[in-house]
Amino acid sequence: MRKSTVQDVIEKAAALEFVQNGAIVAVESLSGKELQYFYKSWNEGVEDLSATSRLFITQVGLEPILRQEAAERGGVQNYGTELVSLSEDDDGVSAVVRSRDDEHTRSIRARYVVAADGAHSTIRRQIGIEMGGHGSSDCITVYFKADMREMIGDRNLSVVYVLNPHLLGFFRFSFDAGSGFLSIFSVTDPETGEHRNLVADLSDERCIDYVRTALGCSTDTQIEIENVQQWEASASSARRYSKGRVFLVGDAAHTMPPTGGWGGNTGIAEPTPTTSPGSLRWFSMVQLTPRYSIHMTPSGGPAGL
Ligand SMILES: Cc1cc2nc3c(=O)[nH]c(=O)nc-3n(C[C@H](O)[C@H](O)[C@H](O)COP(=O)(O)OP(=O)(O)OC[C@H]3O[C@@H](n4cnc5c(N)ncnc54)[C@H](O)[C@@H]3O)c2cc1C
Repeated sequence: MRKSTVQDVIEKAAALEFVQNGAIVAVESLSGKELQYFYKSWNEGVEDLSATSRLFITQVGLEPILRQEAAERGGVQNYGTELVSLSEDDDGVSAVVRSRDDEHTRSIRARYVVAADGAHSTIRRQIGIEMGGHGSSDCITVYFKADMREMIGDRNLSVVYVLNPHLLGFFRFSFDAGSGFLSIFSVTDPETGEHRNLVADLSDERCIDYVRTALGCSTDTQIEIENVQQWEASASSARRYSKGRVFLVGDAAHTMPPTGGWGGNTGIAEPTPTTSPGSLRWFSMVQLTPRYSIHMTPSGGPAGL
């Protein structure tokens, strides 16, 4: 980001979303016992090692900045457009894409393809690259509103891990402590002690119960569920990161559980070694074509997993 000159813009956008430099702490519940501070300040120890500091910004906050930067540098962005098939010959790659609005299909010809199409990458499947690694578990993220000012007090908390006998997960809170999200890895039934299938019941009632357990608050606290999302926690890496003229990046190349916040960061770091200073033209990585798979794999995990 620093090399591509968007660092300042990102810093300003991040400051609008979160109080930066907060703590990372594990608690039994937000109102309950603090178990361990991993960092008092998220940038502790970083200042001496890096020209920039760590920032907290959502993907929703970051992507418009990157989109604008790409557009200013001549990148054409097609939304609502799905890649349905891909074929390669000696001179380049042909992709068939379909408009999701009117189902219209057309062909795009390019010299190279960067597959940044996420964990369920269509492109990775089409070129036959397999994933290896560890299995996955069903998780959920509950977005909610509640007045947490008293529970947080004067603590500046960036990430709050909840290690409760009945619930494992983590919190992030909004600026005003009036909303947040709780990502949940696992829950045990308080009566039977057995693991619950998290995705089997995503009712507001059940999700309010989870948020209440993690907050450690009484039924007097009003909790409103805004949204619930399902996702899989897994640790896996593509067997190789490129094939012919196609290069995998981001979650298409590797997945990891969210603890530590490495998934998106690793995707962003991947092209860095080949970025020319002051330029966003990281597609220059294709100059390293024969080496890309070897060169990039260490950032996402060993290819031989
Ligand atoms: C709860 C949770 C918390 C996380 N916290 C952090 C964190 O703190 N820090 C961090 O760095 N990472 C975090 N991550 C991981 C991070 O969200 C991912 O690593 C990141 O979003 C991956 O980005 P990506 O661009 O590779 O893939 P995605 O964000 O999945 O984007 C892929 C895109 O490709 C599109 N697409 C898919 N198939 C096609 C197709 N056939 N044609 C056209 N388009 C297609 C999709 O619509 C999507 O827009 C977290 C993840 C979770 C689940």
